[in-house]
Amino acid sequence: QAKHSGRSQFHYFTSYMQELAQKRHVMLSDMHKAIKEGQFEVYYQPIVDTRSGKVVKAEALARWKHPKNGVISPAEFIPLAEESGLILEVGSWIYKTAVSQVAKWREEYDPEFKVSINKSPIQFKVSQTLDEWMSHIDESGIDGTSIILEITEGILMEEDELVKQKLMTFREKGIEVAIDDFGTGYSALSYLKKFDIDYLKIDKSFVDNVATSQQDKVLSEAMIAMAHKLDIQVIAEGVEDAEQKEILTNMGCDFIQGYIYSKPLPAKEFERVFLA
Ligand code: C2E
Ligand code: MG
Ligand code: MG
Ligand code: MG
Repeated sequence: QAKHSGRSQFHYFTSYMQELAQKRHVMLSDMHKAIKEGQFEVYYQPIVDTRSGKVVKAEALARWKHPKNGVISPAEFIPLAEESGLILEVGSWIYKTAVSQVAKWREEYDPEFKVSINKSPIQFKVSQTLDEWMSHIDESGIDGTSIILEITEGILMEEDELVKQKLMTFREKGIEVAIDDFGTGYSALSYLKKFDIDYLKIDKSFVDNVATSQQDKVLSEAMIAMAHKLDIQVIAEGVEDAEQKEILTNMGCDFIQGYIYSKPLPAKEFERVFLA
């Protein structure tokens, strides 16, 4: 009996793995097509300055409008894009789209507006990509101060001289750097003194319980205090209700991002609701 059930579990397991591999294969070939056919779109989520209450920045978040399956979340396709290397192509399109969007918004609505763009670790490892971003800035005449690059702690933990140099060149152009999902990755903080960082983004997992858990409250408070001592500004992400917003604001958090203001929106809608 036991043996029998073990064997059938194994059977389920292998067919599950086969199904996964099959899905992955289909998604990958769909993604190639999506690049060619322009099925990707960039959505924008407002980031609000807690002192002025104004929307001063937006995070660019990728969406895939699949012709059959509807909107696919980046949590689903970015990992596959990373594994397969397609992220280089998709990422470069996202980057160019977001950069020209912010230039337009600066010209029409707010000369200091910034767009924050997510970067995968592998986009930092390919030197050519970094050079491409830089020459894009130069060629398009875009003001570097309109861009924030969101990276994760992992990129800074690797002691990579190239990464350090590239980050420095970015910052020379006025581009700012944010650490995304702060507090969820490595606990070593020494990279904070090696790199010049502009923002920490407190991860949603802390924000979720900031009103209900003493621990998460203390941790958020400590992150904000530490950041400010290092001359780093703080963005709280995933803020959903007024209580969370108030607590974080009282702690001195500089910026708030989350559903409390808005979900990520298509560019046109973002413009109509928050800029026009
Ligand atoms: P992230 O960079 O940490 O982005 C924040 C995520 O939290 C977004 O999910 C956003 O929609 C979601 N969010 C914001 N406020 C709230 C809230 O109040 N409640 C809830 N429940 N969620 C909130 P999204 O757009 O699905 O993106 C997921 C992740 O995919 C991003 O996490 C980022 O790591 C990655 N990603 C998205 N776009 C890109 C991209 O263009 N390039 C790269 N490399 N990664 C991307
Ligand atoms: Mg992000
Ligand atoms: Mg995040
Ligand atoms: Mg600084």
